[in-house]
Amino acid sequence: MADGIEIDFLPVGDGEHSGDAIAVRWREDGQYKIMIYDGGTKAYGAALVEHVKTHYNSNYVDYVVNSHPDNDHAGGLLHVLENLTVGELWMHRPWAYSDEIRHYFHDGRITDDSLAERLKQKMSAAHALEDAAEKREIPINEPFAGRQIGIFTVLSPTRDQYVHDLVPQFEKSPKLKKDESVVASVLDMIKEAAGYIADRWDIEYLPDTVSTSAENESSAILFATIGKGGYLLTGDAGVQALRTSADYAASVGIDLPQRVTFVQIPHHGGRHNVSTEALNLLVGEPLQNATAPPTRTAYVSAAAKAPRHPKKVVTNAFVRRGFRVGQTKGRAISHFTQGTPKREGWGPITYLPFFEEVEK
Ligand SMILES: [Zn+2]
Repeated sequence: MADGIEIDFLPVGDGEHSGDAIAVRWREDGQYKIMIYDGGTKAYGAALVEHVKTHYNSNYVDYVVNSHPDNDHAGGLLHVLENLTVGELWMHRPWAYSDEIRHYFHDGRITDDSLAERLKQKMSAAHALEDAAEKREIPINEPFAGRQIGIFTVLSPTRDQYVHDLVPQFEKSPKLKKDESVVASVLDMIKEAAGYIADRWDIEYLPDTVSTSAENESSAILFATIGKGGYLLTGDAGVQALRTSADYAASVGIDLPQRVTFVQIPHHGGRHNVSTEALNLLVGEPLQNATAPPTRTAYVSAAAKAPRHPKKVVTNAFVRRGFRVGQTKGRAISHFTQGTPKREGWGPITYLPFFEEVEK
């Protein structure tokens, strides 16, 4: 039986670029288990190692999970593998599927090897993890729906979706991604320059038409229950992955909207990753009563100087659903249950309000 969980969001990014570095510890049959879920960019691995040594008093991590191969999530994990003893590494290996997916490509010159090589180059931080784990004989498992990482169940992606839908998209846009994200953020800035609009509790504008990269949609979404608590980690998932999670959970009898008491707001609170419909399926519908005190917690990793993370319109969506919202913005924040060890120098955090005005 498991009890006592600590979920620690470490700050990533002193500039404008956000990332995730999350450490989790729980007790299982009287023994502590430790999981690292993403490691931020390269520089943040050292902070994670320090955190595990100082606050968990350990040199051993049971599970290292890379939600998806983007640098702001995979980068710091190499330092963790190199400086702590690791039981299992959980990451996707997109380059391992080139023979299964090569028929999607019309270029007759593509060989299995060249496809795999290109993916390895494009996702160099994730590939370096695989190398480091193999060198140390750390077992590598792939986080597909239904697999179990300690007390956490993987809800998304399904293996089929990953191999046949997402991986071909990684390869089809080898150079597009960065430009797309620049275009998206410029578009966001233009939209925001247009100013703010009033927001109301009973009206939500989060359309279902938003989309994010295939890499983000490949984020391993994890869920665990301890007693009455339900803990959901989402990486940079978008609406597609959130829907898959809700469907998968329902198929195995987990009523997510009823069970989730803690959620990671996906993709640093970006507006392209959540919709009203997806949130309703995942964590339930907005509350009727705007004055009801929050009963659940949502955390978001956003860089100290990120001007657009988290979006107010996204924060409001979680507040409407009964969450108090905490953000990193340059410091570590910890969600913990009763009975977990006290920490010197850690105090209460200030939660975000319901914003009366949101980005247009
Ligand atoms: Zn990210």
